[in-house]
This record gives sequence, structure tokens and C-alpha cells, in this order.
Amino acid sequence: MSKGKVWLVGAGPGDASLITVKGLHCIRHAEVIVHDRLVNPELLAQAPAGCLIIDVGKTPSHHPVPQEQINALLVKHAGEGRQVVRLKGGDPYVFGRGGEEAEQLAKDGLAFEIVPGISSAIGGLAYAGIPVTHRHYASSFHIVTGHMCQGNDPQNWHALAQINGTLVILMGMTRLTEICQQLIEGGMSAGTPVAVVMYASQSRQQMAKGTLIDIHLEVERQKLHAPALIVVGEVVNLQEILAFSASHIALNQVVV
Ligand code: SAH
Repeated sequence: MSKGKVWLVGAGPGDASLITVKGLHCIRHAEVIVHDRLVNPELLAQAPAGCLIIDVGKTPSHHPVPQEQINALLVKHAGEGRQVVRLKGGDPYVFGRGGEEAEQLAKDGLAFEIVPGISSAIGGLAYAGIPVTHRHYASSFHIVTGHMCQGNDPQNWHALAQINGTLVILMGMTRLTEICQQLIEGGMSAGTPVAVVMYASQSRQQMAKGTLIDIHLEVERQKLHAPALIVVGEVVNLQEILAFSASHIALNQVVV
């Protein structure tokens, strides 16, 4: 019987040491690693000698490896009895198509496990100095995509504007101005604080702050682009006092 199995591992938002203990263990024992563009190379360096490393990274407007082919790769290598790590940015089930990949594995009767990760939407924001909730400013948070799958209904920004919580938008950079405008039309105050965080938790992290009406100007000035988080809500105001500089932990020193 085949011992093949796929671990869908969340790599965390970027700082390599934000991977879980279990995720690092999986990488160190993998025979094949299939990884995304946003995955830190420091994590790949933890793979054992002889591990086959396959980059299926996507850029926003360019999909080098179609999803069906990624699914087929996982099925092939696990089917042939290998220990496969599917390494994905953030958490595998937060807009990462992890659900689709696991579905395929389940359909094909292959063994799989999910190793959750720290999503950029929460941990990435924390590294930028923004707490996703705060008792005085936000009692809920909503993680939404700015980019809908073709054929799906567009995001109901007017309804989202009515929810009194922090709004975290992933994959929204190409439509930033339109999204802000829709939120204002939906009833949000034009002065609502907004931050855009690019490469959250990485050494190249960069941020723009403003309001719904003017954030696009600062984003243009700094030339920010994907991958970035757009966060809308009062918690953005805490950034000034909660920003910190993160320490670096080398993975080679981590014993798992
Ligand atoms: N599964 C991932 C999200 C995948 S969708 C997670 O849980 O974080 C990809 C989008 O996530 C990007 O377009 C961007 O909006 C956001 N993203 C992921 N990593 C990021 C990072 N380090 N900094 C800023 N945005 C990030």
C-alpha cells in the first residue's frame, strides 16, 4: 500500500519563523515541496537534501501553473507514494485555494492533512502595528477578497459598509479606489481610517495610511502594489503607538 500523503501547510505571512512547529517538521521531512510565490525561501532552505522543490507561484496577472495542474501534481506525487508538502502563504484555507486542493485529494482517495498557518490578514496586520480587534474600536473583523472568481457575484461593498467592524481586504490592490468609493457610497464616513500594508511581516514591509477618500494618493506616492492588505477601520489609528520592529529568528537554530 502507498504511504503517499499531502500536508497542506500554512507558511505564515512572510517572516519565516511564524510557521508552526508542525509545519516546520513537515518541511524537514518532505520528499516533495510544491510552493507558492509568497513563500519565504528561508523555509524552502529547511527541506532535506534530495527533496524535489516545485515552484507553482502565481503573480496577480499571470498564472504560470493552472490550478488543475497543481492539483494533478499533488495527486501524482502522493499517488506514487511520496510525502508531499503543499506550502502556501498564510493559512491554507484563507483564500489560498487550499479547499480546492484538499477536495481533489479527498476525491482521489489520497491521504492528506491540513497544517494551519498564521494568516496575513491577522498576523501580517499585527506586524504592521494594527490589532484586528480592540474592545474600544472594533468588536468584529471581516476578511474579504477584492477579487472575485469569474462568474461569482461581485462583493457587496454596500452591505460590508454597514458592518461595524474592521474590514480586511485581500487581493484588492488593483481595485483600491473603486472599493473605497463603494464603501463611502454604502454609508461609511469618507474619513474612515485606512491602511495598506505591503509585504507584511517581511523585512521589506511598507505601509501607507490615510482615509477612504485619500488612501489611493499615498499608495500611488509610495508605489505600493500586491501583495498587500487593505485594512479599513478605527483600529488603524492605533498603529502609531503599536508599531514595533520584529526580531529575526534563524530557522537553523530552531530545534523541532
Ligand atoms: N492564504 C493567505 C492569503 C492568500 S490570498 C493568507 O492567509 O494570508 C493572497 C493575498 O493575501 C495577497 O494578494 C495579499 O492581499 C494577501 N497577502 C498575503 N501575504 C501577504 C503579506 N505578507 N503582506 C501583505 N499581503 C499579503
